[in-house]
Amino acid sequence: MQAFSDNLNIITKKIEQAAKKGGFDGSSVRILAATKSRQIEQICSLLSTGKVDAAGENRVQEFLGKYQPDITFDFIGRLQTNKVKYIIDKVRLIQSVDRENLLSEIDKQAAKHGIIADILIQINSGLEEAKGGIDVADTLSFAEKVQKFANIRLRGIMAVAPIASEVTLRKCFGDVYRAYRSLQKAYANIDYLSMGMSEDYELAVECGSNMIRLGRVLFEGEL
Ligand SMILES: *Cc1c(COP(=O)(O)O)cnc(C)c1O
Repeated sequence: MQAFSDNLNIITKKIEQAAKKGGFDGSSVRILAATKSRQIEQICSLLSTGKVDAAGENRVQEFLGKYQPDITFDFIGRLQTNKVKYIIDKVRLIQSVDRENLLSEIDKQAAKHGIIADILIQINSGLEEAKGGIDVADTLSFAEKVQKFANIRLRGIMAVAPIASEVTLRKCFGDVYRAYRSLQKAYANIDYLSMGMSEDYELAVECGSNMIRLGRVLFEGEL
């Protein structure tokens, strides 16, 4: 608990500085805990600090084992269409949406439960084949496809960046930020730009991220 508070204090200061550098408001940056392979007790104690917005899980099986209704969870991992039904009513946001058949399944399951599913479009900034996500250049055309589905509400973008030099990362984050702004101009309710992890969250915040997904620096301290 003490360790979490110390880590969070350091992270919060860095967020403030980075946001200021980029001309953004640090207090509007949310921290999402990336909780894969972490125990539920640890997750609860981290969330009890009140400084972490929610927990993000990557694998359906693991998530269901940890799920409890009083914790806010997002889904941030690769999602198989046939598993949407297990998580649809248990998550705040599905951040990892990158395919049309996934959209239709989310829509179908949301309708079944009588809910509107909030989603983010996942962008693969480095266009790495092993990672999910669409090309940033396709953001608006994918967003248009989302509009067909009555039970889905688009809330923004989740970006996964490559491991790259600062120059390359800046370009990736800048491109994603511009795509996010163009979504905001085109649609209502666009308020999440989920971008930045332990390695690169300061740069992401400087480039306009308002949600950083942190695993290692939260649970283990600065790298
Ligand atoms: C694991 C994970 C993170 C956090 O990674 P760290 O390097 O531990 O901060 C963020 N986003 C996604 C999608 C992840 O799978």
